[in-house]
Amino acid sequence: MCRRLYQKTLKYFLNPELSIRNLLFNWIALTGILAGLISGVATIASGWYLITLVISCSQIACCGVCLWLANKKHLLIQASRILCFGVAVVGFPLTFVLGGGMRSGVPIWFVLAIVITFILLDGKVLTVFLVTEVLLYSGVMVLDYLGYIRKSTASTGTMPYFDVWQSLIFAAFSLGVITKFKDRVYEKEIKKNEEQRERLEVLKVEAEKANIAKSEFLANMSHEIRTPMNAIIGLTRIALREDMPESVRGNLEDVLTSSNNLLVIINDILDFSKIESGKLEIVEAKYQLSTLIYDVSTVIRFRVNNKPIEFVQEVDDNIPNTLYGDAMRIRQILLNILGNAVKYTDQGRICLKIGWKKLGDDAVLVIVVSDTGQGIRKENLEKIFTRFERMELTENRKIEGTGLGLSITKGLLDMMGGTISVESEWGKGSSFTITLTQRIVEEKPTYGEMKNQAKAAAQNAVKPFETNLTFPGARVLVVDDSVVNLKVAKGLLALYKMSVECVPSGEECLERVENKKYDLILLDHMMPKMDGVEVLRRLREKPGFDTPVVALTANATQNAKRMYMDLGFMEYISKPINLGELETCLKKYLFAYLCKEERAAWGKGAAEGKEGRKDPVGNKEPSYGNGDRMEENSRKTEDPGAARQMPDREVFDPYAGLECSGGDEEGYLDILRLCLQESEENEWKLQEYLKAEDLKNYEITVHAMKNELRIAGAAAASERAFDLEKHSREGDLEYVRRYHEDLLKQTAAAKQAIERYLADMERLQEG
Ligand code: ADP
Repeated sequence: MCRRLYQKTLKYFLNPELSIRNLLFNWIALTGILAGLISGVATIASGWYLITLVISCSQIACCGVCLWLANKKHLLIQASRILCFGVAVVGFPLTFVLGGGMRSGVPIWFVLAIVITFILLDGKVLTVFLVTEVLLYSGVMVLDYLGYIRKSTASTGTMPYFDVWQSLIFAAFSLGVITKFKDRVYEKEIKKNEEQRERLEVLKVEAEKANIAKSEFLANMSHEIRTPMNAIIGLTRIALREDMPESVRGNLEDVLTSSNNLLVIINDILDFSKIESGKLEIVEAKYQLSTLIYDVSTVIRFRVNNKPIEFVQEVDDNIPNTLYGDAMRIRQILLNILGNAVKYTDQGRICLKIGWKKLGDDAVLVIVVSDTGQGIRKENLEKIFTRFERMELTENRKIEGTGLGLSITKGLLDMMGGTISVESEWGKGSSFTITLTQRIVEEKPTYGEMKNQAKAAAQNAVKPFETNLTFPGARVLVVDDSVVNLKVAKGLLALYKMSVECVPSGEECLERVENKKYDLILLDHMMPKMDGVEVLRRLREKPGFDTPVVALTANATQNAKRMYMDLGFMEYISKPINLGELETCLKKYLFAYLCKEERAAWGKGAAEGKEGRKDPVGNKEPSYGNGDRMEENSRKTEDPGAARQMPDREVFDPYAGLECSGGDEEGYLDILRLCLQESEENEWKLQEYLKAEDLKNYEITVHAMKNELRIAGAAAASERAFDLEKHSREGDLEYVRRYHEDLLKQTAAAKQAIERYLADMERLQEG
């Protein structure tokens, strides 16, 4: 019974699923019905005043119809308007006029009418209704005052008192009930919201846990994938050292490029997942700002070399140079932003500006990277820091990227308490601003260091080596036990469009010569098992052998040239190879093949003997390395101390390395990778020879190492190797023992710097 009653009627007044407004409306309409009933009963009691009774009945009918409209027909807004119109605009003023005017209880109902109008209506309709009601109520009151309203029987005797009393009680109670109802509804709403918030909180924690689990999974996976990827890359590089048909080589090179791309993506995902799962740690330590800037600028300058872009550095001289923070992550941030600037700029200018403010013991660095590139559309500015978001996909379809760089950058900056913002104009360029607070360790400003570096950088500006000579058809054999040297020599000779073959030992040289005639042999001296002098002797013993043999050696002793000529070599070229010397030698011995062509430059297929290279930045032009000795001379004469004042450059200087290796930029990177592999093997050999007190082989190995380190650009380690080579030749075991560890230390430092540099370059190349 109760249930049926609830289902039929009460649900319209109690159902929590109805909207608050609907419930309120229903309660008000119900109040209207009750008020109509009461006033009807009162009318009958006061002696059947017909019109008032009709009004009461109409009010009941109007409220009933409105209830039906709102709940059955779902026309709440229209029902509210009809209710207000029927009751407040028509019903009450009419009752006032017919029911005794001011001497009745109707003015009290006016109050209720206005409150209900406020509750049920909104906006302009509310204003119209309120104005109408106020005007109407005032109008009928004025009419009453002027005596136009007839006094009814209800306005005599005790009736007005009763009418006022019942109106007052009913109106007051109605208002009270409405207010209480609203309170209850709000309390319920608040409780509901609170419960919802708690539920959301639980869901949020669960989602966060799931997200962390996902990120951890990604981090683990990326880590696991990295190991086999490194093996693929390493083995492909080793395989590429072998002689093979061009088509196989091309395929292998594609494997290498794709693997490198994949590795960069995996590394990015690893970083990103680590940041998301809170596993990435900021490792703070003392660092030199000037070195950091120099390293970053060096990498960027190499990248920029491919394009007509001016790279400018404006660093406030007064920034304290020794700071405390995570230098590796700051490098990563700068390389991401500057790398993007290079990627998305075809020509013009890229500027790295660093200013600062002192804040107690801290320096607040303000780093601005601006470019004159393609810019970012206004509507995309917000999105670029979101993971995997890449903009202007049509314009950038040739530019590789994952859309992770900026989100990693932002994540790192958040972890370090820094900020990043961007301003950009589509078609004109972008400007990224980073602020980062770092603790000052030493107040000494960057002034001197930065000046030296700027000078060194300007002097290091890489100029392409150009030649207009080629020797098509000439066959040259290069013999060297060091794969690094072979790679460099092959890279240099490929420019001259000749056929170059490389072999790693004297024995293989003899075999090759057995089956094929060469026009020139470049022969290393110090090789294990059979050295260059022995190989030359055996070559000369061969009947009819007349190929000129040139000593290609790192033996830089004063009378080396004389010695090699005496031994029967036609010529002597010192390593690292001087391009001028090499060209003179080629002209002399390959004269028959000499051809003058349009000017060719380093990098045009240099190290691999290929026509042009796939440029990761999307540029058609290949990059050029520097093989020009004059460049080196000018550096030395202008300010011999400039580069020397930076101890880190002694450990590893890519500019020097690029010059020594003579290859183009990509060839140089390959050479660096080779150097890393070779040095592992050489270090192991040195240990073994030292243990066995075998100074002869120690000398040969350390000699090769000296050369390779020099080619890589690791001057300090190379010098130590040279020193040990000298002492091992002299048989000074004591000395070699004493300084052997030092060589390993120097090599380790160089290798660390090379690895960092390679990682930066690879990241930039593919990202
Ligand atoms: P991506 O790997 O795509 O470069 P990032 O997260 O580094 O990913 O950058 C996100 C997007 O922001 C890029 O795809 C590019 O559209 C835009 N962008 C970033 N830096 C620049 C810039 N210097 N000039 C123009 N667009 C930029």
